[in-house]
Amino acid sequence: MRIFDPHIHMTSRTTDDYEAMYAAGVRALVEPAFWLGQPRTSPESFYDYFDSLLGWEPYRAAQHGIQHFCTIALNPKEANDPRCVPVLDELPRYLAKDRVVAVGEIGYDSMTPEEDDALARQLHLAIHHGLPALVHTPHRDKAAGTRRTLDVVKESGIDPALVVLDHLNELTVGIVLQSGCWAGFSIYPRTKMSEDRMVEVLKEHGTERVLVNSAADWGRSDPLKTRRTGDAMLAAGFDKAAVERVLWDNPVAFFGQSGRLELDPEPDAPEPDESSSFEGNSIRRGGA
Ligand SMILES: [Zn+2]
Repeated sequence: MRIFDPHIHMTSRTTDDYEAMYAAGVRALVEPAFWLGQPRTSPESFYDYFDSLLGWEPYRAAQHGIQHFCTIALNPKEANDPRCVPVLDELPRYLAKDRVVAVGEIGYDSMTPEEDDALARQLHLAIHHGLPALVHTPHRDKAAGTRRTLDVVKESGIDPALVVLDHLNELTVGIVLQSGCWAGFSIYPRTKMSEDRMVEVLKEHGTERVLVNSAADWGRSDPLKTRRTGDAMLAAGFDKAAVERVLWDNPVAFFGQSGRLELDPEPDAPEPDESSSFEGNSIRRGGA
């Protein structure tokens, strides 16, 4: 099974995760810029994070045979902190970089006026840079948040085929697919979507314009949820082509719209190259 995880926060994950993901079939992923748990107190701390999404983390992923791409944005939660908002002015510098395959994650957390402003501004940045947009839907009051997000997407004038609304469920998938946007599902271990519920959604709505991700981060999550969903699809009678469409072809088609998704058909062997380094740092932690 060949897997592209279109939403996973590897900065919060371990080397063991990379090894297990490779063994499960993950060969490429997208890491969206997000909130780190600890609130940031200045724009500069975002820039170091963005640089790490473009430098160190792709290097670390490549050591385990996985190709790493990212999306860059001011996340919805920190859009409410005036200390962080100046990040918006610096985003164009990052959106020009080769491995940035979308603007994201943007969207709503608590649906405040500040979030309205950041979402609208960043959708315009996506239009201006010809990039897709990865849009987070709020975990609280999801139905209302999703409807409002779709309204703002429509007002922005962005082509809905360039937008994925993420963290959807049975209640929100219908309106999102109807809008022409892509439907993203984050499969979590205990709460929200499970792989079995995902299989039911796929039976009802089909496999077109659907993305499945683990959204694994610093919270309770499982970086192998993509693989587990593929296994659940096979067990439910989907054929291998349908699994490949959902777990590989669809994310490649969506992020391929950036014009920057250069996938190596034969990524490096999973054995870390012990002699390599990134800006003088290696996964040997300085050891010889
Ligand atoms: Zn996320």
